[in-house]
Amino acid sequence: MIQLFQPLNILGFAYREIKQGLTDMEAMFRLMREEREVADKPGAPALAVTQGEIRFEDVRFGYRPDRQILKGVSFTVPPGRTLAIVGPTGAGKSTISRLLFRFYDATSGRVAIDGQDVRDVTQDSVRHAIGVVPQDTVLFNDTIRYNIAYGRPGATQEEVENAARLAQVHDFVLRLPDGYDTKVGERGLKLSGGEKQRVAIARTLLKDPRLLILDEATSALDTRTEQDIQAALRDAARGRTTLVIAHRLSTVVDADEILVLQDGHVAERGSHAQLIAADGLYAAMWRRQSEAVAAAEAAAAAQAAA
Ligand code: ATP
Repeated sequence: MIQLFQPLNILGFAYREIKQGLTDMEAMFRLMREEREVADKPGAPALAVTQGEIRFEDVRFGYRPDRQILKGVSFTVPPGRTLAIVGPTGAGKSTISRLLFRFYDATSGRVAIDGQDVRDVTQDSVRHAIGVVPQDTVLFNDTIRYNIAYGRPGATQEEVENAARLAQVHDFVLRLPDGYDTKVGERGLKLSGGEKQRVAIARTLLKDPRLLILDEATSALDTRTEQDIQAALRDAARGRTTLVIAHRLSTVVDADEILVLQDGHVAERGSHAQLIAADGLYAAMWRRQSEAVAAAEAAAAAQAAA
């Protein structure tokens, strides 16, 4: 098995000691309602998603007043398209998704969905419109059915199974001791990172959101699992406006646009081919990552031969 962990660690933009991804933002939000950073304006209407366009206009933001994390970030994701955000660790990639989800409000500039400033509409309606596949899914101490149906309370067994099939987790569930009634989570059956991520994909497919945030897992998965998950994610993204927080460059190759974030600024933008041709930061990152992966493959092959 090729461990992507080490080479990416060397590159310094994948591994983090403290997982500070989106986790399960919706679940977390419910659990920490009292810690709301933002409040609805009195009488704020619900977001009306028409096309599904995401727009950041000169967005500036810092968690603390003395440290700016985003220093004027602008981009548009047209309806149904995919934007991937790459860049060194700490560049502010996940912060962008937190602002879209309205965990926080921009200090200046504007985050808009279909022309509506997310500050002018209810938070619940924004969160309802966005599906999140977090890098580290929180499973409830309940059945696998409950964990998937959480994406749309009241979903029928058939709907749950359809979502599970699309997320390529249905066959796995059927092999569990009690099928969909198997208890999972901390006090139940422990699932692997890849299995948990597929449950998260099923949950999101059931929710059927117009907008999608994919916060890619940083932890190493074996190549096969990785490919299965990539396929499930590609299916999930089809027809939805998608923001990918990418830690592995191999997953962004097909994105409509790639944003290279560095130190809170957009350092480069374009398609994979355009950025490779530009021979700048992205191209250098791509070369380094390809070399690191090749070196890891060679080391694994040598080890297997020994
Ligand atoms: P990675 O590739 O490691 O996921 P990232 O580009 O997604 O990194 P962010 O998670 O957006 O980076 O964080 C950007 C910066 O903001 C980091 O320096 C981080 O330490 C800081 N930061 C993130 N969350 C908070 C918070 N809640 N309070 C204070 N600082 C924070």
